[in-house]
Amino acid sequence: MKRHAFSTVAFSGALLAAAAFAAPAMAEEEEGENYITIGTGGQTGVYYVVGQSVCRLVNRGSDDHNIRCNAPSTGGSVANINGIKSGELDMGVAQSDVQYQAYNGEGNFEDEAFDDLRAVFRIHGEPLTLLAREDSGIETLDDLEGKRVNIGNPGSGQRNTMEVVMDAKGWDEDSFSMVSELDASEQAAALADNNIDAMVYVVGHPNGSIQEATTTVDSRLIPLDDEDVQGIVDEYPYYTSSTIPGGLYKNNPDDVETFGVSATFVSSADVDEDVVYETVKAVFDDFDRFKRLHPAFENLDAEEMVSEGLSAPLHDGAKKYYVEQGWIEE
Ligand code: GLU
Repeated sequence: MKRHAFSTVAFSGALLAAAAFAAPAMAEEEEGENYITIGTGGQTGVYYVVGQSVCRLVNRGSDDHNIRCNAPSTGGSVANINGIKSGELDMGVAQSDVQYQAYNGEGNFEDEAFDDLRAVFRIHGEPLTLLAREDSGIETLDDLEGKRVNIGNPGSGQRNTMEVVMDAKGWDEDSFSMVSELDASEQAAALADNNIDAMVYVVGHPNGSIQEATTTVDSRLIPLDDEDVQGIVDEYPYYTSSTIPGGLYKNNPDDVETFGVSATFVSSADVDEDVVYETVKAVFDDFDRFKRLHPAFENLDAEEMVSEGLSAPLHDGAKKYYVEQGWIEE
């Protein structure tokens, strides 16, 4: 976050106008414009749509609040939280397991807890989605052994969650005949080109990547419902059993049982209270519009989004808006 990053050109123009027509408005104009950057994920995922949608709503009100928002593609959850920590990003989307681990100093974050991490709201559910080529012979999670598997780019949430699965199975990278670390947006083509047998994506449904893969190559969603997976769900509060509905993708007519997390929107205590307040206000004041921007948002419920599935404390700016709405107690 470049807090109060001033745009000199726009700023001096505004200042001139203010000086010419309304001297008392100057104090307001001196605040300048705030440019905020939201970390998302690969362009074929849902995080990218979350970031673009939030920015679209924020930017509709830029004339009033002077905040301008952009949401570039990133490596995913872990990269977003690291970017927020370093100040490069102001906000971002992260899996609920990654949020928990970052705040509590576990997993990828065991070297140092990110105490200033702040929750803003929860979004859609994200099942761990394992998709295998039909001709790979993979029918169960255990069949991944000895196969060519894309375990996700470092920085992505799927890589983080896949490591939890591998630990539970007692696997390491040598358990597979080949391991790749392709970005989320590259996996569908790799599957179709027969460079990998299976891809892993922790993602909301329906999404473009699974759609691309299932329409370009005969492939099937593999259930993750054995006792090791049940052990993961029992052990960690942030994992739940989850179902990918049948019929969303070509040749995959049946529901598939797996486990998953929620996508969450996060920021840092270092980010200005007003900026986060205006961001959540832009989303929830126009919530029906937000929900129409992706089918994965269709069933979202505002009060649930601010009160469940968050492990870091709420950001003060978000809290202020939710208290005003009567969604949470002060
Ligand atoms: N859950 C994935 C990740 O953290 C991203 C999913 C998406 O882009 O929708 O990194």
